[in-house]
Amino acid sequence: MALNIAMLSIHSSPIGDLGTQDTGGMSVYVRELAKEFGRQGHCIDIFTQHNSGRHQRVVDLYDNVRLIHLSGETRGAVSKRSLYAYLPQLFHDLESFKIKERIEYDILHSHYWLSGVLGTMAQSSWDIHHLLTYHTIGAVKQQTCPSEHETELRLTNERRLAGVCSGLVVATQKEKEYLSRFDDVSDDKITVIPCGVDLHRFKPLDKPSARRQLGFSADDFMVLYVGRYAPIKGLHRLLETVGCLTHLPGLRLVMVGGDGPHTPMFRKLQSEATALNIQNRVTFAGRVEQKTLPQYYSAADVLAVPSYYESFGLVALEALACGTPVVTTPVGAMEKIVKDGVTGYVATDSDPKHFARLIEAIWLKKQQNGLSPSKIRASVTECTWARSASLLLEAYRSASYGQQKI
Ligand code: UDP
Repeated sequence: MALNIAMLSIHSSPIGDLGTQDTGGMSVYVRELAKEFGRQGHCIDIFTQHNSGRHQRVVDLYDNVRLIHLSGETRGAVSKRSLYAYLPQLFHDLESFKIKERIEYDILHSHYWLSGVLGTMAQSSWDIHHLLTYHTIGAVKQQTCPSEHETELRLTNERRLAGVCSGLVVATQKEKEYLSRFDDVSDDKITVIPCGVDLHRFKPLDKPSARRQLGFSADDFMVLYVGRYAPIKGLHRLLETVGCLTHLPGLRLVMVGGDGPHTPMFRKLQSEATALNIQNRVTFAGRVEQKTLPQYYSAADVLAVPSYYESFGLVALEALACGTPVVTTPVGAMEKIVKDGVTGYVATDSDPKHFARLIEAIWLKKQQNGLSPSKIRASVTECTWARSASLLLEAYRSASYGQQKI
């Protein structure tokens, strides 16, 4: 039976600019799963407040998938920081849409705690089964990354939501354990569903031509970073790592992502690179459209993921699908998706010198022609969004059996 699924992605849009402050893996997750569900004949409405592209209220995204821009009285986008106060208004708008469309949803799936709070309003008004994916857990983020400070509002709400929602969906077993530990959530309330990768988009391209097209030298040893420029991503220690590797001929760090050259974070990274005397070895490539990323992954010799915390870490899966090895900290799904010593390395120590040794090991393998892109890709070909979607659908169905809604 086809389902009517409502997804809340309130602070970040599935068609927002990936790689900027509030738009990353969560948007890809919502977009790709909705696309898969739509392909299978289910009807999905995704609700967001984020509308940087000034799209119409309702956008037909894919077969059976609509994106609805809620506004309430907000008149334009509200920043993530101020959004909490507007949630009752946004709920009013969500309710009006549902009534006007005369639609009954079978399941409600919220993404991130702000959507979770909005979702609980709908949960009690609609008497619907409500699943929540945190994407990041504030308490864990704060504990793992020294410079991150989370508001009491977020921490309190995340704890409350764990009790109120019908179920929680996480991307790794590790995340499930965090939730049991921090929020005392019972195991049977949490479902682990790994993320996927679009294997048609992310595939190995010819390295020399990828480098030529992007303007990088064929002789470089290219270390790539892809992601938001956020403290949690460990960018400072990546720069320190590169500072330890200047003896490698042609060493180049290419940093994709961020909100542009005029932002404080960009300037901070630039001055850190200068302080480490590696400014000539670092290229800040800015935000790149996802369709162009396979060129970057294929051009690179290694993807570096130096994060303090990830709920999954999509970029690693994308790089591996493009045949590029990954050197990473032990965050998110990394220990599962990176075959240590075969498709990359998982660091056992947070010291940049250790991270540097692992990148140097990739450099050595490169000299010995030791890494085959097709073998690296083969290690992740089971990780499709179709697999994630069918697991999630199972979770939707079993969540709702108890309520005899589906
Ligand atoms: N991304 C992109 N362009 C950029 C930077 C990132 O398309 O300039 C995408 C990347 O392909 C990945 C996502 O943003 O799918 C980042 O997801 P990840 O899980 O690695 O990090 P998160 O944003 O969840 O912290």
